[in-house]
Amino acid sequence: MRAQTFLFACLKDNFGVLLHDPQTGATASIDAPEAAPIEAALKKTGWQLTDILVTHHHDDHTAGIGALKAHHRCRVVAPRAEAQRIAHVDETVGEGDTVRIGSLEGRVLDTPGHTAGHISYFFPADKIAFVGDTLFSIGCGRVIEGDPQMMWNSLLKLRGLPDDARFYCGHEYTEANIRFAKTIEPNNKALAARAEEVATLVASGKPTIPATIGAEKAANPFLRADDADLAASLGLSGDPAWKVLAEIRQRKNRF
Ligand SMILES: [Zn+2]
Repeated sequence: MRAQTFLFACLKDNFGVLLHDPQTGATASIDAPEAAPIEAALKKTGWQLTDILVTHHHDDHTAGIGALKAHHRCRVVAPRAEAQRIAHVDETVGEGDTVRIGSLEGRVLDTPGHTAGHISYFFPADKIAFVGDTLFSIGCGRVIEGDPQMMWNSLLKLRGLPDDARFYCGHEYTEANIRFAKTIEPNNKALAARAEEVATLVASGKPTIPATIGAEKAANPFLRADDADLAASLGLSGDPAWKVLAEIRQRKNRF
């Protein structure tokens, strides 16, 4: 039986998501922005929380851990490089490690840039990735603790996942990201198509994720920083992709 997911909104614009293994009943919360909506999601699904998979140390991804752990005695898995900054951690992981949620097997990817120790989780059998604040639909995370080169390498790693892999990110930023992306690639047809799709989803009150890596590669300018035409349009022909990424990121910060 395949993995099941349950997606919901929390805090101002965070996503919460549960990953459930129907075979064993194991259920992981990806990050823990706040306990109450996660408890509500568990109640609604009837799933029992067994694990929390943390992507990075920011408060809006970890504030709910203490209350959830006290209530469910769940295991808390967190990035090795940030374990000191996250409370209640049971297990630390890094690149290449395997995380088991019941019978589901996830692979840990180091994806630093937003924070220095940020990790993502990829479940190959179900082709589901949890990318935290590294990749957003039509955007990428702010480069806070790392540098653009680090972020570009992380984005390349995620871009290298199968085209039909679905990814869940930490925030609902898609609409705003699209408004900005159109200033970078006004003639990108894949972006225009995504904009239409997102407008329909938002109008009916639905979340804009998960998106697939394949669709994202075509429409997200942050994943396209090595595109020669894109670089040329920014006056950066011949520059390394990470410099193009840095320029796009700076423009987004000012947008
Ligand atoms: Zn963050």
